[in-house]
Amino acid sequence: MSHHPNLSQGRGYLAIPGPSVMPEAVLNAMHRPAPNIYAGELIDMMPPLMQDLRRIAKTDHQLAMYIGNGHAAWEAALSNVIAPGDKVLVPATGRFGIGWGDTATGLGADVEVMDFGLQSALDIDRIAQRLRADTAHEIKAILVVHVDTSTSVVNDVAGVRAILDAAGHPALLMVDCIASFACDRFEMDHWGVDVMVTACQKGLMVPPGVSFVFFNDRASAVRAALPRVSRFWDWTPRANPAEFFQYHCGTAPTHHIYGLRAALDMINAEGIENVWSRHATLARAVWAACEMWGTQGSLALNIADPALRSHAVTALRLDAPQATQLRDWVQENIGLTLGIGLGMAPVGSAASHGFFRVGHMGHVNGQMIMGVLGGMEAGMAALGIKRGAGALDAAAKVIGGG
Ligand SMILES: *Cc1c(COP(=O)(O)O)cnc(C)c1O
Repeated sequence: MSHHPNLSQGRGYLAIPGPSVMPEAVLNAMHRPAPNIYAGELIDMMPPLMQDLRRIAKTDHQLAMYIGNGHAAWEAALSNVIAPGDKVLVPATGRFGIGWGDTATGLGADVEVMDFGLQSALDIDRIAQRLRADTAHEIKAILVVHVDTSTSVVNDVAGVRAILDAAGHPALLMVDCIASFACDRFEMDHWGVDVMVTACQKGLMVPPGVSFVFFNDRASAVRAALPRVSRFWDWTPRANPAEFFQYHCGTAPTHHIYGLRAALDMINAEGIENVWSRHATLARAVWAACEMWGTQGSLALNIADPALRSHAVTALRLDAPQATQLRDWVQENIGLTLGIGLGMAPVGSAASHGFFRVGHMGHVNGQMIMGVLGGMEAGMAALGIKRGAGALDAAAKVIGGG
């Protein structure tokens, strides 16, 4: 038998759910000497940058930018509206909901988790019951993760607003759109969201390092009534162009601003509706392949109902340790990096090797998705993993519009 060469040379595809693939245009925009932060281009870039971000979030309200990742945005948002002792309700559908709740606990909030497990969306009726029982309005905020990246479930944000309104409950609706922003449809004002957090390294296609908190007038009023907010997290100066745009809040994230400008230009040129429908179609191609593989053997989509699946990431199951074996194989042999399972089983446990994820967020197109699926097919064939036939045909049909 002839020697089989290693096929991992060439451009890799980091198919994990963030950081996502960075476009050349973003990388090129960042490749420049340090700019002046006190006058000129960098300051002039800020108003349109903020306006473009608001347009993607579908909001006319305010926006604060932070140097920091998604965890920073979690803390920033909570710091402006939650005082120690305040009750916060966390309807969790995966590890990121739990994580945001932990951040609130760290700030002294009284956190109540409603755990909806790892394979379903949050149950609106159960939350409605809990809100109706809170006649004293002790719950100050509900923390909802739009797409929980660990389970790849998408939650009904507008549905949570509807039950808040129906119960006449004043709690703030706070939403984590870190995985979903510029991937899954989201409409902040129309859906009645009070506070939204996101970060730049997923649908926005920029290296990790800046994050954003959007907030409406109801949230501003809650902020104004707090006795104090820590200086760094206070969103008031950051949302004020006269202060933040002059970088009175500290050194500007100079190169991220150039990278983000390039990314927003790409999103504007495509149009956010087209960006969303591209993600929807690419996600359907991934699901189509996985459903065919799953007709035999153990591979299964973590979220059974297609209507509850994110368009940004897909969480998958395979009998342990095959998920880890497959990830290792495609990494070592064909230059493809798949995401680890997160929050599905204790880290490092035998069971944790039965989960993995495919990121399909941001700078991703049809040939990349066919590549990732073809790579998975090759890996499962090489490893002798039992699976149904016809997966690539099913995906190609979706990509081809059939
Ligand atoms: C990635 C992610 C986070 C965490 O963001 P970091 O930048 O890693 O801190 C939080 N929530 C969701 C839904 C995410 O996808």
